[in-house]
Amino acid sequence: MAALAPAANMAELLQRYFLIERLPTLWCPGCGIGTGAAAFMRAFDRLGLDRDKTVMVNGIGCSGRVGAYLDFDVIKGTHGRSLAFATGIKVWRPELKVVAIMGDGDSAAIGGNHLIHAARRNIGIVAVVFNNRTYGMTGGQYSPTTGAGDAASTAPFGNIEQPFDLCKVVAAAGGTFVARGTIYHVRQLTTIFEHALQHKGFAFVEVISQCPMYYGRYNKQGGAAEMLRWQRDHTINVKAAAKLGAQELGDRMLIGELVNEQRPEYAEEYMKIVTQAQARQGGQG
Ligand code: SF4
Repeated sequence: MAALAPAANMAELLQRYFLIERLPTLWCPGCGIGTGAAAFMRAFDRLGLDRDKTVMVNGIGCSGRVGAYLDFDVIKGTHGRSLAFATGIKVWRPELKVVAIMGDGDSAAIGGNHLIHAARRNIGIVAVVFNNRTYGMTGGQYSPTTGAGDAASTAPFGNIEQPFDLCKVVAAAGGTFVARGTIYHVRQLTTIFEHALQHKGFAFVEVISQCPMYYGRYNKQGGAAEMLRWQRDHTINVKAAAKLGAQELGDRMLIGELVNEQRPEYAEEYMKIVTQAQARQGGQG
């Protein structure tokens, strides 16, 4: 399919990629997931990528609904297993672009092992995690990214666990592209998605997203607008942060591209082994 010129506006982007007849979405008013999904599609569109050569894998939960509204080939995986499905697809059809869209509970709790091993292998999957620090769809239970002391339906007196810093986890596991964006910084997030989609290897994007319905309500953070302001005030671009000392930085989270390096991609290396094995078998025949 020939690449189209980038969509001129959001209406055109919606017409091009979204299943309009399925709208409105099930997301609550003010939820960040829809904005993040539109930013992803904007990046995809700008790069002129071919949806017929792309497979999206969704997990379970509110962010696992993204693919339900897109005119894409989408696999609805089981909880925590998006990266297992995505790994199978990438190894079988390395020429495809494979995207896994997950939530924080989905990717970091039940799916945590898949996450670290996909990063370690450097398999060519774009892994997007909408981190709203709660299990939204099931009623606001605490997740592996809920802050210590934060309230949740399962932590009415405050969470006693320390949260994962997902970008640090993935970087430590060997991720070659690791980035964090927020819904507030949606233009930067779109650029991050563009770079993730162009990366050869495992590309991990954490999207700090607001869940006003549960996390915001339990933690008295106000509505969506207040939660977006929180994202603005509690983050700092990684380049600006490099000029500051630890004290000036405070507890602000780094946003931007934290790791961007090259290493052999797993599916390509795997195909080399397949070719060698076939050659040996042919020689023996
Ligand atoms: Fe979004 Fe939270 Fe509502 Fe789920 S429960 S759709 S994460 S606001």
